[in-house]
Amino acid sequence: HTTHFGYQEVAVEEKASRVAHVFDSVAARYDVMNDLMSMGIHRLWKRLTIERSGVRPGHSVLDIAGGTGDLTAKFSRMVGPRGRVILADINESMLRVGRNKLLDHGIGGNVEYVQANAECLPFPDNSFDCITIAFGLRNVTDKDAALRSMTRTLKPGGRLLVLEFSKPANPLFSRAYDEYSFRLLPKIGELVANDADSYRYLAESIRMHPDQDALKAMMEDAGLERVEYTNLTGGIVALHRGIKL
Ligand code: SAM
Repeated sequence: HTTHFGYQEVAVEEKASRVAHVFDSVAARYDVMNDLMSMGIHRLWKRLTIERSGVRPGHSVLDIAGGTGDLTAKFSRMVGPRGRVILADINESMLRVGRNKLLDHGIGGNVEYVQANAECLPFPDNSFDCITIAFGLRNVTDKDAALRSMTRTLKPGGRLLVLEFSKPANPLFSRAYDEYSFRLLPKIGELVANDADSYRYLAESIRMHPDQDALKAMMEDAGLERVEYTNLTGGIVALHRGIKL
């Protein structure tokens, strides 16, 4: 059995360790690179995700593939002392950077840190009012299993939000974006993080990820209802939302 790591065909068992290598390598510079590569726009994408989450004081939230914790930090303030937020990620390096950052910002009391694989979440059924996975699903080997696992752990009425790179609608814009991703991105990666390969993987993995409608169909197959998406920045990114009824 094979799958893809960027454009390369790799054994299913190999993918997770290749992805782990990427995030071990980028963890320390992850936040700086995010701001640089997206020119700060990832902050707007994340803000919209928060707005669409419906999260209220007292809620239970899972931020899976949460990495350095941008969404967790916002949710922590929103759910208040009676709520809880779990920052979960498969990668120890990313979790450590996230945990240190949140503690530095005085965010603590209601946040837990869990090392977990999105494909088989270690939480009971019907646990969360909201689950977010931001720029994470693309890296998961078995995306259908991950969507099922997230749906299982949502409470009835709970929302899953998937923020992920997607497919720009306009072909001209798409060409410019390709130039940027395949020529400029690896160069920035080389200069700032001394790591062109990880940023080449980033560009390739984005192209291999299911487009807006394919992801919508996958979410419906996983058992989510009222699935809809919003294109952001011309479809470079899409925010999908589904509800467990
Ligand atoms: N959500 C954060 C953000 O938006 O800035 C981090 C996104 S980062 C690009 C992708 C994260 O997905 C990495 O921290 C990586 O370790 C994590 N990841 C990859 N595969 C995973 C899996 N199977 N289960 C959980 N997390 C995973």
